Amino acid sequence: MEQFTKNNECEMCECEECLQMLELFLDNETTLEQKNQVKFHIENCEHCKSCYEAEHQLKNTIKEQGSNKKCPSEIMKCIQNKIKEMVFG
Ligand SMILES: [Zn+2]
Repeated sequence: MEQFTKNNECEMCECEECLQMLELFLDNETTLEQKNQVKFHIENCEHCKSCYEAEHQLKNTIKEQGSNKKCPSEIMKCIQNKIKEMVFG
C-alpha cells in the first residue's frame, strides 16, 4: 500500500479531476490513459467509488426509462453538482 501514500498530499485535487472525468468515463469517451487513471483512483478512493456507482446506476435508470431519449445535459449537470456537494460539501 506504500505506493499510494503520496496521494495524501493532494487527495482532493485528484478527486476533483477524477469526478470531472467520470462522466466521460461512463460515456466511454475517455482515452485509454484517462480510463486507467479513473479506474485506479476509484479503486483507491471510497468517495469517488460511490460517486461512480451512483452515476452508473443513474445512467442505467435513465436508459431504462427512455431508451430513445438522450438525457438532457442540464439534468446530468444538476446530478453532478449534487454528487460534488455530497463529496466536498
Ligand atoms: Zn477520489
